[in-house]
Amino acid sequence: MTLPDGLIDVLRSARHICVLTGSGVSAESGVPTFREAQTGLWEKFDPQQLATPEAFQHDPALIWRWYRWRRELVARAEPNPGHYALVDLAARVPQLTLITQNVDGLHQRAGSRDVREFHGNLFVDRCSVGDCVITGADMRVDVPLCRECGGRLRPGVVWFGESIPADALRAADNAAGSCDVFLSIGTSSLVWPAAGLAEIAQRQGASVIEINPDATPLTGQSRFAISEKSGVALPELVDSLAL
Ligand code: NAD
Repeated sequence: MTLPDGLIDVLRSARHICVLTGSGVSAESGVPTFREAQTGLWEKFDPQQLATPEAFQHDPALIWRWYRWRRELVARAEPNPGHYALVDLAARVPQLTLITQNVDGLHQRAGSRDVREFHGNLFVDRCSVGDCVITGADMRVDVPLCRECGGRLRPGVVWFGESIPADALRAADNAAGSCDVFLSIGTSSLVWPAAGLAEIAQRQGASVIEINPDATPLTGQSRFAISEKSGVALPELVDSLAL
């Protein structure tokens, strides 16, 4: 892979890199992206229609079956070279803020710290009624119930139409608003408000770099666009920084 001219110089002089990752980063770990065809049992469902509060209201047992399937799939997956390269990159720059739209925890399992989870985490449970704190719920039933209030438990992820956790949103806005390099990796740049972070960074003068094998609405706006899988491009980029 040939890296675009000037890219390594921009990274070497960066004081603060803000990284936004999407489900493409985990694709090489075997975790399907939303926009790719789902497999087996779930291929007849549109994931964008399962990941909504309305779908949970309508058929919570179905939604739990889907999330249990995703939990099992992710539990079997391992971080890939792209996840590990981001751990190395963080060690090479004065400051790196990692914001992820992924709910799979693979960045953390690779060793990344202070990961800002924009869309929650697949392995966390939440009460769908109140703010009860949930631990050790009985998962052997179709729809687990909250021990505190008896309400239905739901997966602790952000569904379409729901708000981003306030602390993650604040951290992301601050990082995009103050970084000198913004790296958008493996995201379709279609899901808001995450898709707006690159523009915040660009407006205050940061260089935007995209890594994605396919074109997105961000590709034409980026200073550098690398059309490659993140598990290939990221290790190469970090190795080049070390030379
Ligand atoms: P998306 O499904 O909309 O887009 C995925 C992007 O990744 C596409 O642009 C695709 O071209 C790119 N891609 C595919 N393989 C790649 C690779 N090997 N390297 C780099 N890029 C690759 O995903 P999104 O933009 O993250 O947004 C959709 C929502 O899906 C998010 O809210 C996220 O929470 C959720 N989601 C998360 C996971 C996960 O946690 N792993 C999986 C599926 C969906």
